[in-house]
Amino acid sequence: MFTPDDTIVAVATPPGRGGLGVVRLSGPGASTIAGALLDRSEPLRPRHATLARIVDQTAVVSIAVDQVVATSFPRPGSYTGDDVVEICAHGSPVLLSRIVTLARAAGARLAEPGEFTLRAYLNGRLDLVQAEAVADLVEAVTPLQARVAFDQLEGTVTVRIRELDRQLFDLIARLEASLDFPAEGYHFVEAGEVVVVVGAIRGQVEALLDGAARGRLIREGCQVVILGKPNVGKSTLFNQLLGVVRAIVTPVAGTTRDLVTEVTDLDGLAVTLVDSAGIRPARDPVEEEGVWRARQALGVASAAVVVLDRTGPLAPEDWAVLEETAPVRRVVAVNKMDEPASWALESLGLAAGAAIVEVSARTGEGFEGLRETLRDVLTDGESLTDPPPVANSRHIGLLERVAEALGAAEEAAATGAAEEFVLADLQRGRSALDELTGKRTPDDVLQHIFEQFCIGK
Ligand code: GDP
Repeated sequence: MFTPDDTIVAVATPPGRGGLGVVRLSGPGASTIAGALLDRSEPLRPRHATLARIVDQTAVVSIAVDQVVATSFPRPGSYTGDDVVEICAHGSPVLLSRIVTLARAAGARLAEPGEFTLRAYLNGRLDLVQAEAVADLVEAVTPLQARVAFDQLEGTVTVRIRELDRQLFDLIARLEASLDFPAEGYHFVEAGEVVVVVGAIRGQVEALLDGAARGRLIREGCQVVILGKPNVGKSTLFNQLLGVVRAIVTPVAGTTRDLVTEVTDLDGLAVTLVDSAGIRPARDPVEEEGVWRARQALGVASAAVVVLDRTGPLAPEDWAVLEETAPVRRVVAVNKMDEPASWALESLGLAAGAAIVEVSARTGEGFEGLRETLRDVLTDGESLTDPPPVANSRHIGLLERVAEALGAAEEAAATGAAEEFVLADLQRGRSALDELTGKRTPDDVLQHIFEQFCIGK
């Protein structure tokens, strides 16, 4: 995986047809290989878009393949830090793969997934946190996810980690100096000061962790399962929430036997909505399977929307769903408000403040309130307008390790343990920071991170 000396090539734009498609070359041979593909005798002028033709010189008679715009980005100021050439061709998969084949014939190797960004990281153009941000940015399905990823790419996390590392380094250096000159009684730092300084650094780590659950919710999105007895309007509500017709709506009970899922943008949260068969005693094996899947979906969901039908009396099945969902985050959607109600909301006997919203899935009435309530239930009422910097579970896990190590150092210093012990804890905290930014990250972790990328990134 780590072979930075050869020249790699890949299509950088998504598969399929488009107005334009980009083939990217990176490595020491990028310019020479591009030169072999283009009908030009002079080299490309750095950072200038140059109109040229791609010619296939592998044939007996050379054939023009496409008219392109080629741009060269010399090292070290390119995306990857190597020599890079980007060839912007017409967006036809046939053409683009031909250009890649020609580049390979001229000496390039097909890039592995994420290899361009891996090189950027290995060449010090990005740290690991920023490289992960590139993947998140490309994968984002809501504007808020894109914003969190872009902030991370711009260095919001990197800058904070660097500052934590600077403070830790300073303290470690002073402690080591104290150890080096014990005979002279030369103490660069007193135990009391260590407790205060470590406590302050730990406070900063915990402040970062404070918003992290919300950050993770934004980054990873969440699952919301729609439950209720047959015919209360679950599928209609699912479609209304999505704003498109996706689930099959029929007046026949038990139509939705499998799980239907779709992602919707709920104020920036990427919510995977799951329309289920509902949870109830099944009448046949297919339905039984559907009910089992609904239960599984509830098990992993962040929240449930329990749908009740206001036009008919509450049935034992309604009470069963209410009881089963009582321990989880939920919104009770009382549906069919466009028709006369046959029971009062108070008869549900839910606690004051329970999230109950009246809606009509048929007309869309009440859906603004439903979306707002669902968002509040998912975020514990916290705003999403100021997203926290830390959003990635790898970062959260490592910051927790830093906080734990600093807590141990603080305790050791406070109880008068030898400086060596305090130092060992501080070093442990610092190495977790190094793993976070990629200064010292095990190869298998790196491999795992870059495997998630698609080819061309
Ligand atoms: P599910 O079995 O719970 O998924 O229910 P469906 O979404 O398939 O709807 C069952 C029936 O209720 C269909 O005939 C829908 O048109 C009807 N329905 C759903 N929502 C509403 C609503 O808000 N008002 C009225 N009047 N009918 C609705």
